[in-house]
Amino acid sequence: MSYCEKCKRLEMIPFSQEDINHALENGGLFTKSLDHGDHMLSLKIDCNGSVRRETVFQR
Ligand SMILES: [Zn+2]
Repeated sequence: MSYCEKCKRLEMIPFSQEDINHALENGGLFTKSLDHGDHMLSLKIDCNGSVRRETVFQR
């Protein structure tokens, strides 16, 4: 689950086996960006599907 500090939204992170494979090839982390309308939530996720870092970007 990811948490957006900007809009207080909790949501499931959509990721695939391909993302996991990518993580394993890149030091164990992959990045997902979620579109929240006026801002983006960027997530660093490890190969267990746990969020390591959440960053909010303003548009
Ligand atoms: Zn948000």
